[in-house]
Formats: sequence, structure tokens, C-alpha cells
Amino acid sequence: MEGKRLIGSIVVETLTVSVDETIAPYKQREAVVHETIHGVLVQMGHDKEDDEPLVTALGVGLLQVIRDNPELIAWLQERQ
Ligand SMILES: [Zn+2]
Repeated sequence: MEGKRLIGSIVVETLTVSVDETIAPYKQREAVVHETIHGVLVQMGHDKEDDEPLVTALGVGLLQVIRDNPELIAWLQERQ
């Protein structure tokens, strides 16, 4: 985004996420979740430039849900 420092990016062809390793670790995690949501949207055929505010909100919110609910995450990872 113009005028803003890029702290993360995704190559959608390979679904490879990169983050600026000089930023704080919690910001790196936010960036990884943010870029992963972009990747999911691309895979589902829904990624648009004006999705950015929604992707940002979902990224911050989803990371907080993950941090606050380790038992939920463990349950979601069960394969049965
Ligand atoms: Zn973004």
C-alpha cells in the first residue's frame, strides 16, 4: 500500500508468506495471519484490493481468538 511500510507479503502462486524480521515478533505473527487470509481469499476466488480493511480486521481478530483459545485450536486440529 502506497505510503505504508510493507511488513508482509504473499506470493499467491506458491502461497509463500514473507514478513519483515526486523519488526516485533507479535507484529510478525499478525503479518503472517494477515497474509494467510489473503492467500485463503485468493484460493477461494474472492481477493480484491478493497478487501484490505476486512483482511486487517480478520487477521487481528483471528490471531486474538487463536491466542485466547488454545483448547479450541487443539479441538479444531483433531482429525476425527
Ligand atoms: Zn493486506
